[in-house]
Amino acid sequence: MDSPPLNPKPKSSIPSYLTNTSPLSPLSISQEARDKRERDKLYASIESSNTVRHPVDLDAPNNSSSYFGNKKHTPTKPFMNGHAYHPENLLSEEHARDARDEAPEPISGASRPESPFTANPTIDFDGLSWPSVGTRSRLDATPSEAQARHEKLTGAIRTILECIGEDPDREGLQKTPERYAEAMMFFTKGYEMNLRDLLNGAVFHEDHDELVIVKDIEIFSLCEHHLVPFNGKMHIGYIPNRRVIGLSKLARIAEMFSRRLQVQERLTKQVALALSEVLQPQGVAVVVESSHLCMVMRGVEKTTSKTITSCMLGRMRSTAKTREEFLKLIKD
Ligand SMILES: [Zn+2]
Repeated sequence: MDSPPLNPKPKSSIPSYLTNTSPLSPLSISQEARDKRERDKLYASIESSNTVRHPVDLDAPNNSSSYFGNKKHTPTKPFMNGHAYHPENLLSEEHARDARDEAPEPISGASRPESPFTANPTIDFDGLSWPSVGTRSRLDATPSEAQARHEKLTGAIRTILECIGEDPDREGLQKTPERYAEAMMFFTKGYEMNLRDLLNGAVFHEDHDELVIVKDIEIFSLCEHHLVPFNGKMHIGYIPNRRVIGLSKLARIAEMFSRRLQVQERLTKQVALALSEVLQPQGVAVVVESSHLCMVMRGVEKTTSKTITSCMLGRMRSTAKTREEFLKLIKD
């Protein structure tokens, strides 16, 4: 990726310490450090959502929750300790603006270099973003390996048919395992997509610094707990910082992360973080509203319930007015 241009914006009538964009202003340093810290926390939270979830012990004191599960836990070691430069250190004395800005808990198990998910940056050297363990071999499969994979998957689906009490050989079902195997690979094709290819040539320098929103992006994903679909709409907004992205690419990024096994919270964060990395914008907001078949079709059968998640970064989070503008625009 190109690094952002170094020359400052044309002089404006507003003093730079108010616009918060001069690289030398203390406000700006603090904002950058804050953004960096926001991103680091998102990485940690995306990582934790890829692991087993442990119920919170409601009787335990609030700040001792075992959020990061059974991983080795060395509370005396500060978060991110021992790794080069971290601007959040500059902020350790600063007053937090809201609860999420409090100093991170000492969770060494979540520090980036120890995790395959977060050790890789959003755009890593392979161009994969948050790959899972089998992603690379799926992507690099030779035709015969891909064929073997297809047969294995088809066999597994035949087994499912047997287990539910069906006859996989009856006429109507004969081709079903094969069809479902193909469908499953399509539903999860996001594992084969990467940001670098997807964005190639579609990020531009432009002096536009007003809110950009693409709303009602349709998403189809699979709940990783039940392997049944959830679908709905994603709304993406960002405030550029002299980098803009082709609008159709926002939908492609939404697709890339939704065509994987997901939980909605992680999907929301991954899209926000990917945009944040690629565009280095002043702010990003992602809102997802969706209907989970695992909720509406089984169990509680709340057919009209919607699940809404959001992730706000940078100015979208720090400036209430901007955030409200975004929320109003996606509702209209
Ligand atoms: Zn589910």
